[in-house]
Amino acid sequence: MKPNQPNQSFDPDDLYLYSLRKMAESNIDKNRIPLTNLLNLRAFLYKADDLIRYNDDTYAIIVMDIAGFKLVNEFCSRTDGDALLKYISDCFRVYENDKTAVAHFRADIFALCIPFKQETELIAIVNRLSEQIKSFPIACKILPAFGICIASDKTVSASTIQDCAFMAQKTVKGKYFANYAFFDKSMHDKMLWEKKIENTFDEALAGDQFQLYIQPKVDMNSGKIIGGEALVRWVQPETGIIPPGEFIPVLEKNASIIDLDKHIWEKTFSFISQLKAKHNIEVPISINLSRMHAYDKHLVETLKSFSSYYQVSPSLVPLELTESAYSENEELMYQKIKALKACGFLFSMDDFGCGYSTMNMLVSQPVDEVKIDRAFLFHIANPKSQTLVRHTISMLHDLDLPIIAEGVENNEQKTLLTEWGCRFAQGFLFHKPMPAESFRQLLLQQSLD
Ligand code: C2E
Ligand code: MG
Ligand code: MG
Repeated sequence: MKPNQPNQSFDPDDLYLYSLRKMAESNIDKNRIPLTNLLNLRAFLYKADDLIRYNDDTYAIIVMDIAGFKLVNEFCSRTDGDALLKYISDCFRVYENDKTAVAHFRADIFALCIPFKQETELIAIVNRLSEQIKSFPIACKILPAFGICIASDKTVSASTIQDCAFMAQKTVKGKYFANYAFFDKSMHDKMLWEKKIENTFDEALAGDQFQLYIQPKVDMNSGKIIGGEALVRWVQPETGIIPPGEFIPVLEKNASIIDLDKHIWEKTFSFISQLKAKHNIEVPISINLSRMHAYDKHLVETLKSFSSYYQVSPSLVPLELTESAYSENEELMYQKIKALKACGFLFSMDDFGCGYSTMNMLVSQPVDEVKIDRAFLFHIANPKSQTLVRHTISMLHDLDLPIIAEGVENNEQKTLLTEWGCRFAQGFLFHKPMPAESFRQLLLQQSLD
């Protein structure tokens, strides 16, 4: 129960919080947004904390943001934007009473802290607000997105619950067929996982936990290794090996991928250089570039300096770029590609065929090689799929582009691909990615055969 006044069972911390709360309560009405007269963020969090903690009811925080609101201000007018915000505030205000908190945080972001018994009540609120807001007469399309987080643990702060509601909201923002999402355990786990990656990355990089793995590329006619692809593996002392798909998307969010890539690239250049020096073996090993390198001012310098320091010709280190890398910031990336090509680096279009504009990029971007995405091979038994792959190979031949098929896993795929003129491949049928040392052993073995 919320204490009305301090009594003897209070410890000093509670007394301090109590007096803070009292001060906030007396000020709460001053903490309103002038345009909409709803509570601002600070006042909302104070009130919501109180409600959640000292009421027996179960509470939820609902947050809302509108996809396309910026356009209202830009394409309609500021006056229209303000009118819309006032209208939304009126829709939310209906829920304002002693047992709730209703807020306008900023711009188009609104929030509601409300008690409930069944989740269906919350869904009904969200749907009603959504319909009302969408019906506002304005020339621009507006799409409200709601995130809902249930305060199932009364000791968790309103601020954390609100963060979780926003996390849920982000999963539906801009989607036409879903206007709300509940925060759930998987989102929570994902958030913890991402935090863990962010917090441990620097130490892991310094501690050399990111290891160079290489997957051989083979000539399917002879079975010989013709090169390799550098692939990172995070070898964590407690967890074991973590595949890149689990941490690269997180590192791309805060640009740490740039440091990680440099680390793997340097290992690759050093590996190629040692192969030549110790065994007189020269094979190309491609490296992957994240789309974030579009913003890396030192990209060209970094790659040039590795090439000259390790005395490795740029032509031995093809650069694999996926379609999203080309389109992240097309002009910036294009300038970098041009500069790298002038130094002698070659470009390999990775995962070809799994995007939507790759065809055009074959013409607009300087591409030296194409790696056909493994998704192309999933349904190879299907005649339609066969037509698609066969014609793709034939088109790439006509464009004079070397091809590598990715993800070859069985003999049926191998036979059809070779029949259609695709000679080179990378896939579990031949070799899985392996530690660089194992790749070296394989090459030594091959040079003895
Ligand atoms: P990618 O560049 O397309 O690399 C090929 C991926 O396909 C690798 O996954 C490889 O293990 C997998 N693969 C190859 N053959 C087969 C097969 O027959 N069956 C199946 N199921 N998979 C196969 P991996 O190593 O998990 O890497 C995933 C993606 O992560 C890579 O896709 C690449 O985009 C990215 N990545 C990996 N290492 C790095 C890196 O050092 N830097 C950057 N920026 N990205 C990297
Ligand atoms: Mg690749
Ligand atoms: Mg690929």
